[in-house]
Amino acid sequence: MARDSLTQYREKRDFGKTPEPSGTFTKKSKEPVFVIHKHDASRLHYDFRLEVDGVLKSWAVPKGPSTDPREKRLAVPTEDHPLEYADFEGVIPEDEYGGGTVMIWDRGTYENLRKEDDEPVPMQKCLDDGHVTVRLKGEKLSGGYSLIRTGKGKNTRWLLVKMDDDEADARRNPVSTQPESVLTTRTLEEIAEEETA
Ligand code: MN
Repeated sequence: MARDSLTQYREKRDFGKTPEPSGTFTKKSKEPVFVIHKHDASRLHYDFRLEVDGVLKSWAVPKGPSTDPREKRLAVPTEDHPLEYADFEGVIPEDEYGGGTVMIWDRGTYENLRKEDDEPVPMQKCLDDGHVTVRLKGEKLSGGYSLIRTGKGKNTRWLLVKMDDDEADARRNPVSTQPESVLTTRTLEEIAEEETA
């Protein structure tokens, strides 16, 4: 019903004329979200985050995501972040944990591609299995990506790999050619300057 609760509000207004919001963005998307933060901490890295059961499951990816299926990018699991973090862009004070500038490098929704008997495998089970496969619908990244856990004991590591699908493109390199925020189009330097001014 929430979907229809703004019908009357909208019918009364011409959004080509009023500056009032149409409410398009007030409905939280039903599809789970993903966000990739570019984080200029002691060492620059990308934080890959997937909404699972009300939190953002997170991995730090030192080199960032690739669109080339032959590239395997190390992804180090980090602590769950609150869902609201998907909206965060700003500067963490230098003396705080993760101090440095944070940019929303890409954001969108995702679909869980792991199915068994035509039913999606619960994301928590995918995480426990060490085998996550999702289709991203972002502004920079789209198509399938896998997060795979390999090795045992202290050699355990996760790898982020582009699936070899229609969106795979070995020639693209969005980490270097599209360095700016998808939220504000700002560079890291501009965020740092504006947020600490
Ligand atoms: Mn980080």
